[in-house]
Amino acid sequence: MSLPCPYCQSRDTVLLESPQHFVSNSNLPSAQNNVMSPLALATLGISVSKSLNIPPIAGALVGVLIGGIWMLVTEDEVQNSSHPVYSRHYYCNDCDRDFSPSIRN
Ligand SMILES: [Zn+2]
Repeated sequence: MSLPCPYCQSRDTVLLESPQHFVSNSNLPSAQNNVMSPLALATLGISVSKSLNIPPIAGALVGVLIGGIWMLVTEDEVQNSSHPVYSRHYYCNDCDRDFSPSIRN
């Protein structure tokens, strides 16, 4: 089950669901974790797979996996002040944009 794209109304969308750590302590270097987040890597993987002519979902899954491993590696420094939240994003195969279900319509 997928949502239509809010930009081009295409139904050729995929769901990207990944655990996100929201850091409540602003003193932590969270910028580095944002760069290496599963969602960011999934988006990067989609871009790379598009240019390599392989299915975007494959690149997205690789990105989520790498991001998940990275989060396990860096979990020690954030686990005291953060909690895992599942973030849902959709990616449109037609116009190459991702969107949150909350901004539909
Ligand atoms: Zn679209």
